[in-house]
Amino acid sequence: MSIEKVDTLVVGAGQAGVAMSEHLSNCGIPHLVLERQRIAERWRSERWDSLVANGPAWHDRFPGMEFSGFDADAFAPKERVADYFVDYAAMIHAPIRCGVEVMEVRRNVGQPGFRVETSNGVIEANSVIAATGPFQKPVIPTVVPDTADIVQIHSNAYRNPEQLPRGGVLVVGAGSSGAQIADELQRSGKRVYLSIGPHDLPPRRYRGRDFVWWLGVLGKWDVPALEPGTEHVTIAVSGAHGGHTVDFRRLAGQGMTLVGRTESCKGGVMHFAADLVENIAQGNANTLSVLDEADAYVARNGLDFPEEPEAREVGADPQCVTDPILELNLAEAGITSIIWATGFALDYSWLKVDAFDEDGKPKHQRGVSAEPGIYFLGLPWQSRRGSSFIWGVWHDARYLADQISIQREYRAYNPSA
Ligand SMILES: Cc1cc2nc3c(=O)[nH]c(=O)nc-3n(C[C@H](O)[C@H](O)[C@H](O)COP(=O)(O)OP(=O)(O)OC[C@H]3O[C@@H](n4cnc5c(N)ncnc54)[C@H](O)[C@@H]3O)c2cc1C
Repeated sequence: MSIEKVDTLVVGAGQAGVAMSEHLSNCGIPHLVLERQRIAERWRSERWDSLVANGPAWHDRFPGMEFSGFDADAFAPKERVADYFVDYAAMIHAPIRCGVEVMEVRRNVGQPGFRVETSNGVIEANSVIAATGPFQKPVIPTVVPDTADIVQIHSNAYRNPEQLPRGGVLVVGAGSSGAQIADELQRSGKRVYLSIGPHDLPPRRYRGRDFVWWLGVLGKWDVPALEPGTEHVTIAVSGAHGGHTVDFRRLAGQGMTLVGRTESCKGGVMHFAADLVENIAQGNANTLSVLDEADAYVARNGLDFPEEPEAREVGADPQCVTDPILELNLAEAGITSIIWATGFALDYSWLKVDAFDEDGKPKHQRGVSAEPGIYFLGLPWQSRRGSSFIWGVWHDARYLADQISIQREYRAYNPSA
């Protein structure tokens, strides 16, 4: 049987795969995108029902197309985001084949290129781009044994409050996912405990502009990739209910119990670090630092933006912050479920090439891997802070297409006689 050959193979048709296809086409590079499910699948089936984009529609999109029939300052529901990428792929005539999973990629021996085993046969490719997402494998820390009499799910399996058993819920992690899910559960009438670690807390809007605009003009989205080993600090933002600044003190005022970082669980008793007051204070310090930089930007550029001194007002710490719970007996507190909003890990078990360090992390420079011909796209901090977000991945894809184009030209060179 003849083996299908493509110049460049893109694995995954989320936003990264779609962006990659656009730039490969612009560079005239023949390619194929393989997607095991549907375009932008994770936006449809790995997010909770009420999720809306964290950024307004004018920002959380690709440069080539706006959200049609949607207020540019509003926050698109997750299905609209997925539809956007389906429409975008159609607009650019992206050669996407859905329902085909890439099972294994290996370098050819004694000849260039890669052998790609898929659920639909073998393909050979000169270059392979892994665009399988920044958030692939849900991470649940091994704190509470599976055998415990309590429902435990990761935030990627959370859909809505009705899915949970009666009783209270502990949400672990207060980045954008944890903070929004805890808020939704509390609004549904559940008794909610929220375990808060270190986080950034940008103001949703300030002086008439959304925080995505401020982070843009202040160069924060473009902050270059972190030094190896530097911890990524999660951002707590929400586009829910028209978009608002995440306010943990307000949530506590409405009855939510805030606790520090979750450390361990012994005999049904959860133990939390004594770091809640510090984490809340550090989040507020981050808010104030953004306001300071925004004010300096306004002054430097002589902009006529309305003053907003009330944005600096910080309410008093609620009792659960000043006198935090360090131990909590789950059964006595009536907690019947735990939602782990504790992030994701990468899974490149299908990529059998020399592009990983001893911890299994991709070895790369801006997505160009240590294995010639293999590229990564959509990694957190691939080149900058914005790399794993919608607008950022589009720019990283442009860089990769250029790099692939350069290599193709070298390979095509034929010395004249
Ligand atoms: C809860 C949540 C909310 C977010 N909200 C925003 C937001 O508002 N704005 C924003 O800019 N960013 C947001 N992000 C971040 C980011 O935009 C998303 O994670 C986005 O899905 C990443 O797109 P991607 O294409 O890089 O990866 P993914 O969306 O993960 O796409 C990867 C694709 O690869 C496919 N795939 C995987 N393995 C294989 C294989 N072996 N063979 C074939 N196909 C494969 C998958 O099916 C999937 O469709 C959010 C993330 C989360 C978790």
